[in-house]
Amino acid sequence: MDIERALRERDYLISDGAMGTMLQARGLRVGACPELWNAERPDDVLAVHTAYIEAGAELLTTNSFGGSRHKLAQYGAECRADELNAKAVEIARRAAGGDAAVVGSIGPLGVLLEPYGDLTAEDAAALYGAHAEALASAGADALLFETFYDAAELAIAVKSASGLGVPALATMTFDSGGRTMMGTSPAQAWEAVAGLGLLAFGANCSTGPDEMLPIIEALRAAGAGALIAQPNAGLPETAPDGTTVYGQSPESFGEYAPAFVAAGCKIVGGCCGSTPPHIRSIRAALQGGE
Ligand SMILES: [Zn+2]
Repeated sequence: MDIERALRERDYLISDGAMGTMLQARGLRVGACPELWNAERPDDVLAVHTAYIEAGAELLTTNSFGGSRHKLAQYGAECRADELNAKAVEIARRAAGGDAAVVGSIGPLGVLLEPYGDLTAEDAAALYGAHAEALASAGADALLFETFYDAAELAIAVKSASGLGVPALATMTFDSGGRTMMGTSPAQAWEAVAGLGLLAFGANCSTGPDEMLPIIEALRAAGAGALIAQPNAGLPETAPDGTTVYGQSPESFGEYAPAFVAAGCKIVGGCCGSTPPHIRSIRAALQGGE
């Protein structure tokens, strides 16, 4: 899919929901490396993508959120980065067929950059650039820099991919107080990324749709154009056994979709805890039926 054209011509595109929590439901241990499943359990990854296609998703996000060499090194798998990212794109493409777009997921490195931490901007750019190139050369239709909380790090990441000829999308994660973990407001976030040439920018993860809607409205008020909303299925709660659960029903989740589109969202989907029924509910709310 030509995402740039689709975003221009269509009122909105429906993206998929969670991958990590879906793989956990298929047996991925909490704390295990999801990207290794691209090689070891590809049928499970494919099944999640296929379920989202059947639910109405038009953008599939690859199972590569933690596919940077830096993140994979935590599992001793850094030398498999290119292979695991390429497989992530191949599996998503198999489910997408010719209709849906394959969006290469790139998450933050998970460490603070200088001056707050040890990682230099140059090292970060090299890591992001390699991750982006692996996904782009495997044929991703676009890259999605997602769940960022540091606007400066996001800018480094997006710039590192600017020469690859693949369009970029990005989301940042704002808590229910309306700021990122670094204290960045939606207006400050937009100011930091406005000149990066992103096809669309928005918010994902951390909160449910109810808390995310004002963040989207604040981004719009700050001047952001095409927006992305990918909330969690409600606020996370800790179950008696210590696991994290997301309790918002698909019906309640989908009810927010028209408000997101009215607020300027061109891409609406879900993050942690959302499932194919949540995406189906978005489609029903936007298109009627079911
Ligand atoms: Zn999430």
